[in-house]
Amino acid sequence: MHVVRDLHTLRRFIAREKSQGHTVGFVPTMGALHRGHISLIHEAKKHCDYVVVSIFVNPKQFAAHEDLDTYPRTEEQDLTLLEQYGTAIAYVPHTDSMYPEHFATNIHIDGPLHEGLCSTTRPLFFDGVALVVLKLFNQVQPDIAIFGEKDYQQLCIIQQMVRDLDLPITVIGAPIIREHDGLALSSRNKYLSDEERNIAPELYTILQRVGTLISKNHHDVHGAIEWGKRQLHDKGFAVDYLELRSEESLLPMQVYHSPCRLLVAATVGTCRLLDNIVI
Ligand code: AMP
Repeated sequence: MHVVRDLHTLRRFIAREKSQGHTVGFVPTMGALHRGHISLIHEAKKHCDYVVVSIFVNPKQFAAHEDLDTYPRTEEQDLTLLEQYGTAIAYVPHTDSMYPEHFATNIHIDGPLHEGLCSTTRPLFFDGVALVVLKLFNQVQPDIAIFGEKDYQQLCIIQQMVRDLDLPITVIGAPIIREHDGLALSSRNKYLSDEERNIAPELYTILQRVGTLISKNHHDVHGAIEWGKRQLHDKGFAVDYLELRSEESLLPMQVYHSPCRLLVAATVGTCRLLDNIVI
């Protein structure tokens, strides 16, 4: 595995592979890697000859009050894992080279995908994500890119950007990887205290119960969701949103029609957890 920190070297390696007819798969991450990230590498290897994984904690997607400074950084461990799972290139750019002085471009994705859900509490988050992903796509020039369904709104927004800007990249969503008790893996789970860690799996349990209620009574989506919010509150979560949305357009749904997703964001202690299921 090559650990590459500059764009010139990255381009040299990628050009060499492409000239040999190899396809390039790309998995962008912010590091602090876990089995969720590794599953994306496995998925990339199914489709491509050569897998590039980036590790970059993107300052543009953190608001001033968020956890940019304390976000877990475990580079040495991450590189060992990436090598172990057959990554060809670990791309670890410096912040200064991604966003040099006088950097002035922004990306904004409009429309229903960007309305509500995580955009309400993090209004600039997806612009920051789209910017870094577009930059990384231009740098790596992959044939395919893999994103986790764990961040479902993000996956939809990236797919929209790729369509809108005619990027020659196939974006593939990969399923959520969970702990044995159902908690979706996340780098931020490290923030959970023992007590919060015990509560955290209830998010998935309650999500599933709400899903069952909705599939039994298609017309009372509102009632099922209000019930779910109360359950979450009683378990100690501060609920950011719990919503039924259509699978592709992410339009809110008052009545159940397949295919759709039930999406939740809720905070326990100081840790904001995301999850979603297909109904
Ligand atoms: P992050 O490092 O948190 O920015 O995530 C990098 C990629 O890993 C994103 O596409 C996430 O959706 C994906 N990811 C994070 N957690 C999981 C998980 N538990 N299962 C599957 N994919 C995940």
